[in-house]
Amino acid sequence: MCLLRECAENGMLDDIKMRIDKLSDGERADAETYEARLSCCKKCEHLISGVCMKCGCYVEFRAAFKKQKCPDVSNRKW
Ligand code: SF4
Repeated sequence: MCLLRECAENGMLDDIKMRIDKLSDGERADAETYEARLSCCKKCEHLISGVCMKCGCYVEFRAAFKKQKCPDVSNRKW
């Protein structure tokens, strides 16, 4: 399992960072929450090259939203 930031081809990461920067403070998860979420994803069997196989999202984007949750309804990790 790897996050997008750890993949060799990560041009998409710049785009995601730009989109995250545009979120308002009310929308964006705080840095500590964000990193804790990504740590959970890193250990998850559903993560493939930065994409969650449960929802098809790049986790580095999904985890940035304060109100988002892990989509694995039977075993939510965050
Ligand atoms: S199922 Fe949850 S913990 Fe696993 S990769 Fe998806 S968002 Fe991350």
